[in-house]
Formats: sequence, structure tokens, C-alpha cells
Amino acid sequence: ERASNCPQEGMPRPPDSLELVQKCLQQFQVTKTQLQQIQASLLCSMEQALKGHHSPAPSVRMLPTYVGSTPHGTEQGDFLVLELGATGASLRVLWVTLTGTKEHSVEPKSQEFEIPQEVTLGTGQQLFDFAARCLSEFLDAHPTENQDLKLGFNFSFPCHQTGLDRSILISWTKGFRCSGVEGQDVVQLLREAIQRQGTYNIDVVAMVNDTVGTMMGCELGTRPCEVGLIVDTGTNACYMEEARHVAALDEDRGRSCVSIEWGSFYDAKALGPVLTTFDQALDHDSLTPGAQRFEKMIGGLYLGELVRLVLVHLTQHGVLFGGCSSPALLSQGSILLEHVAEIEDPATGTAHAHTILQHLGLSPQASDAEMVKHVCAAVCTRAAQLCAAALAAVLSRLQHSREQQTLHVAVATGGRVFERHPRFHRTLKEVVTLLVPECDVSFIPSVDGGGRGVAMVTAVAARLAAHRHV
Ligand code: BGC
Ligand code: MG
Repeated sequence: ERASNCPQEGMPRPPDSLELVQKCLQQFQVTKTQLQQIQASLLCSMEQALKGHHSPAPSVRMLPTYVGSTPHGTEQGDFLVLELGATGASLRVLWVTLTGTKEHSVEPKSQEFEIPQEVTLGTGQQLFDFAARCLSEFLDAHPTENQDLKLGFNFSFPCHQTGLDRSILISWTKGFRCSGVEGQDVVQLLREAIQRQGTYNIDVVAMVNDTVGTMMGCELGTRPCEVGLIVDTGTNACYMEEARHVAALDEDRGRSCVSIEWGSFYDAKALGPVLTTFDQALDHDSLTPGAQRFEKMIGGLYLGELVRLVLVHLTQHGVLFGGCSSPALLSQGSILLEHVAEIEDPATGTAHAHTILQHLGLSPQASDAEMVKHVCAAVCTRAAQLCAAALAAVLSRLQHSREQQTLHVAVATGGRVFERHPRFHRTLKEVVTLLVPECDVSFIPSVDGGGRGVAMVTAVAARLAAHRHV
């Protein structure tokens, strides 16, 4: 057992280890020109998708979200929010109270539930029944007088929406692959599961992507918040587009929020040159080979795995850990975003990295921890740079359609990669400034994972539905 993990045992470490590491990590370097090419290519895909071009199919989707204006902050009421798919395999239920003013904000109540893997890879019915059970459990634990429960479904997957409460799943992404859901209306599936559960009467009034919830929940500042950016397990952004530019909408007046779904961006010419052998291996062994190639270079679900693949490679070449790997190092998914962020954390030095590596069954030598830090930094820097190129495409699109010399805009940000990895945000900002110097951007971190924004959309949807029924 040990022998197979240790093909290089007893061999001296190559004297030029650090150089070998650096040479390997060069693959993760992206030039400014390459970032500009990615920015331009993504912008081109966005514009084709807006125009409704089908062949060749643009690699991003530009999905209408039926949200027509940024928040006024005047919505009121209590709302249930169910979050599925934003943060890994967990599901969150929130009780959000909107008071209509900024002064009297009420902390939402929330509860998180771990979704077992047999559910994320099981049948759709199992998944939605699980969600309905979590809702009941939450309401049992947080009893309310309110008989009229309105729910906003924060569902973080690409959906073809034809209204706020009609939303067909196009395809699963990230770690989910439940059967019988693609092509179905997820609002309807949730309603049916709640009925099967039968304990509470809950009205599912809106489905909201996490990017939209984040944008809508943004604190009202001095400038309009017209972009929502998520880097969590996966990555995506939404922004306010002129409705007349969205071929899929009949509406020609005003603006409409569009979810870009940039995780599926791919262009052999622009992205091909920056793909490494590690990206290819990760994609090949993923649940969805060939899909979400851009997301697989940025999303928190994948950063740890990329690091792991590099470490395995360097170990097999005798550069790290005296050439000895461990069963954990060789298992897919054993290095998580949390590990990468902790290893890189400048505050803890290499001590933390050392401990994490030991927990993976490795015997790091003094210099190993230092080199592993370089690996984490290379993978995360590239992720932030690519994300910045994508955001730059959105900002230049906004600037162009607003016909403004200088675009003043706020971007609401959310997701664990932002929260756990402080350097990610800094790199992102620097590169955005480099790529679109004419845009004056402020970044506003979301406070509650977008729950408040989802509640706001739900409030609007409930109001519109009540009008329809009278
Ligand atoms: C999904 C998007 C979502 C993003 C961030 C992607 O995998 O396709 O809908 O916004 O992850 O959670
Ligand atoms: Mg139109």
C-alpha cells in the first residue's frame, strides 16, 4: 500500500524543486492580451445570445429573469426563502422580514441542512421531497402566526424562465445530477413536493437566481447597483440590460435583469490557450465532461481539485513530499476551497499549511508547505483574473448601452470564494481596473447571501399575483 503511494521513496529530492514547481505553475499564468481576448469573446457571445442567435449556439445563455427594476427598498412583509444550489450540497431556509426602511432592518432567521449525496445524485422527487421536509422542519422550529406563507425559491442553476414563477431547468451544474428535473418547471416540482409533505400551506411565488438575489439585496448606495456577481461553488453574473435589446422578451420599454450564465462560456480560440493539462483532467473526471468549462476554472467547487491535481503531479515527479503521496491526496475532491484559502492565508504562515497536509496523510518537509502555497496562489490568482475578464465584458456592455463616457456602477458580490479568500477580491478589482479603466466600479459584498434580495423579488411577485387574481 505504502509502496504504491511512494514510487520515488528513497530518491533524493531534485535540487531544483522550487524551479520545477515554478515551471509547472507557469501554465497557470495568463497574459493581459489573453484576458482581453477572453473579455472580447465573452462580450461577443453575450451579444449574440441577446439577439437570439441559435447557430452556432452562443456559449452563454443570457436568460431573462423577469426582474424589471433594481430595488426601491420599500417592500414589506415576511417571506420564506429556500436556497438550493448556491453553496455546495447544502440547502438553506430563511425567514426574512422586510420592513420597508433601511433603518429598522431585522436579522433573518436561517437554518442550513446538509443534502446527502444520494439525494444530489438521486431522483428529482427525492430532492424536492427533501426540500419540503426541510421547510417543515424549519417552520416547526420557528413557529409563526402567519397563515399566509409566501416563498421565494433561490435556485442557482440555469433556468429558462417565462415568468417569475415559471422556470424550467435547462441543465444541472456543479455537483448536482438529479434525474427527471431537466426540462421541468422547478417551481411546479417544489409546489408538488410541498403538497405531498402536506404539513404547511406554502405559496411558491417566485424563482430567483442567486446572482439576482444578490443584486436585488444590495444596500442602496449613491450609485445604482446593476450587476450581481457570484463566485461560490460555481460562478455567474446578472446585470440590468435594456429590454429592447433582449430578443427573448416582448417588452421593449425599460430594463430587464439578465442572467448571463457565463460558467458555460467556451471559445477554443480565446479560452483554449489558457487551459492546462490539469483543467483537461478535471473536466474529464467531472460529473459533466465538456460542460461549464469556464466555471471549472473559477468556481469554489473546482479550485481545490485543481490544486490537488497539481500536487499529485508534482509528487509523482518527486518534487513534493519526498515523492510519497497518500490515499487522500489521490482521491478526487479531498482538497476543498477552505483548505486552499487557509493554506494561502498570509496571517498563518506555513504552520497551517503543514497541518492541512498532514491531515491529508502526507509527510510534508519544511519546504513543501511553502511550495504548496505557491500552487494555491497560482490557481486562485488565475481564477480571479478570469473572473475579472468576464466582469469587464459585462461592464463594457453596460457602458456601451448606457452611452456613458464613464460608467459609475456598483457590483454586488456574493459567494464563499469572496468570503473565504480575501486576495481573490483584491486581484479581481486590480484586473478589472486594468481591463476597463473607463469604468468606475464599487464592489458591495452581500450581507446575507442574497436572502433579502430574493425576499424583495418575492414581495413584488406576490403583489403582482394578487392583482392578477382580483
Ligand atoms: C449556475 C448559475 C449560478 C452560479 C453561481 C452556476 O453553476 O449555472 O445559475 O448563478 O452557478 O451559483
Ligand atoms: Mg425585445
